[in-house]
Amino acid sequence: MRSQLLVSGILVMLMGLAFYILQIPIAYSWSVVFIAGGAIMAGGSLFVGEKEGPIEAPDGYRFCRFCSATVPLQAARCPKCNGLQQAGGT
Ligand SMILES: [Zn+2]
Repeated sequence: MRSQLLVSGILVMLMGLAFYILQIPIAYSWSVVFIAGGAIMAGGSLFVGEKEGPIEAPDGYRFCRFCSATVPLQAARCPKCNGLQQAGGT
């Protein structure tokens, strides 16, 4: 399971619950959406990516630190967001 997703799902659920309990205007109508979305995230985290471990970029690529797109190691800038890449890379 992906604990990061589980934690964020629970946080979203708690947020929705808080909206619901406090009956914050506008946010209140979204509380059910938050709770449902959080439940899906937390529930989904149990089924995805256990074997993946830390995510690694494919050979010859690295992740853009701005948008997380895969960028060739020798590229100075991300082709997606044009963000300047770290020299040398990781
Ligand atoms: Zn980028």
